[in-house]
Amino acid sequence: METTETNVSEIIDKMKNLSKEDISLIKKAYDFSKKAHEGQKRYSGEPYFTHVFQTGKNLAEIGMCPPVVAAGLLHDTVEDTEVTDEDIKREFGDEILMLVEGVTKLGTIRYRGLKRHIESLRKFFIASANDMRVLVIKLVDRLHNMETLEHVPKEKQLRIAQETLEVYAPLAYRLGMRVLNNKLEDLAFKFVYPKEYSEITKILKQRSKEDIKYLEKVDRSLKKILAREGMRDVRTMYRVKGIYSLFRKLERKDKDINKIYDISALRIITKNIPDCYRVLGLIHSTWRPLPGRIKDFIAVPKPNGYKSIHTTIFTGNGGIVEIQIRTEDMHQEAEYGIASHIFYKSSKDQSEQAQSNRYWFERLVPGIMKNRKNQDEDFKKIANEKAPLWIKKMMDYSSVSESQEFLDDIREDLFQQRVFVFTPIGDVIDLPVESTPIDLAYSIHSDIGNHISGAKVNGKLMSLDTKLKNGDIVEIETKKTSKPTKKWLDYAKTTDAKRHIKAFLAENNVS
Ligand code: MN
Repeated sequence: METTETNVSEIIDKMKNLSKEDISLIKKAYDFSKKAHEGQKRYSGEPYFTHVFQTGKNLAEIGMCPPVVAAGLLHDTVEDTEVTDEDIKREFGDEILMLVEGVTKLGTIRYRGLKRHIESLRKFFIASANDMRVLVIKLVDRLHNMETLEHVPKEKQLRIAQETLEVYAPLAYRLGMRVLNNKLEDLAFKFVYPKEYSEITKILKQRSKEDIKYLEKVDRSLKKILAREGMRDVRTMYRVKGIYSLFRKLERKDKDINKIYDISALRIITKNIPDCYRVLGLIHSTWRPLPGRIKDFIAVPKPNGYKSIHTTIFTGNGGIVEIQIRTEDMHQEAEYGIASHIFYKSSKDQSEQAQSNRYWFERLVPGIMKNRKNQDEDFKKIANEKAPLWIKKMMDYSSVSESQEFLDDIREDLFQQRVFVFTPIGDVIDLPVESTPIDLAYSIHSDIGNHISGAKVNGKLMSLDTKLKNGDIVEIETKKTSKPTKKWLDYAKTTDAKRHIKAFLAENNVS
């Protein structure tokens, strides 16, 4: 359980290489936010500030630079308190204002559980955050909201948990943030599939208890061997598979738990690559490996860039355990993804930061940056030189992937450039570029399309051939007497709208 006591030193202690200015920035953001949220309470009855405090602390923990941690502390001030954009700008400057505004903007999106909605929402997230760091703050914000979801009114719980499972967790996955991805999935799984959750938890508990017994034994023997060989820079840890990811894997393996070997694993973290192979040699000369389960993802990384050596061994007393061997760098990358790269060191160089942002957006949603094509070659060259290997691998999606889903996602993203518009109640709908209110009306329902009489774009009455822009709030007006004309065919961009209009005209003998 977390306490309601907060202390800024808990955040500062988690951060490395802070300058005097950095420390005073964190302290200032802490004090400012604490004062702004004074008197506000969470559903749990705790002071609201505990939420933003935890967000800031978790951002510090995953190695975010000072402006991001400060923005984490401030992320709810503009939306939920008297504080204005101008206050943030005056007190903290443009960079932090941009981050806080970005997070606030993402907070306005609502989730309705429609299949086509999910992909739109993911894309909208990426398209509307003009800095990758905004996404990271939003994900960490969601983590704490999920950790305290039990206090939220029942009718809201399911929606928030579903949104987490379908939108936020996959985003964390795409950003390579496996730890965060797992946490979000497991927290949401409990609310979305309570029955399955308790089943899997039971299986997992039982299995990992047995597994840990074997892991401990191997670990003890291995440490002796390593000491004898003079390898002192090696650390080990146990990892147990996430509950949701086990659930998914079980579904793929005919629900047969005995077909899954990696429920628990012993992780061995070394200083350098030669040591990985040395450790592998020592293990294989001590325990017998299972044939066909030795995978060298260091020599041949996974398409998503994952690097490690995996082997599965017979422990000699009836047990079978998986062992994963990797360097410290590989470990950071596998666990924290984008967070271990871009923000680990505070990047003072603004243009470098911007380039890296564009690079990531382009990787996540190819085509998003197309309108700036002339700069593209440049930035690709720079990004290529600077990009971590796993990202370069991600670009190469022609290679064979273990994850079909990942490939499908990328293909879908490649499809074409989209604009994202809102309905007045906050639904986000994605349409092809140059779509008009007519396309939007038909995408909601053919009846609405057939009777559209007007459209308000951002509160202003606009003509039906208005080209919609990203972020527009569009209200469709209908009249019983209103019906499609031949002109509408010129206005419509989507094949769906055109098809409906043509059908209507044919049926009513309009020529
Ligand atoms: Mn928040």
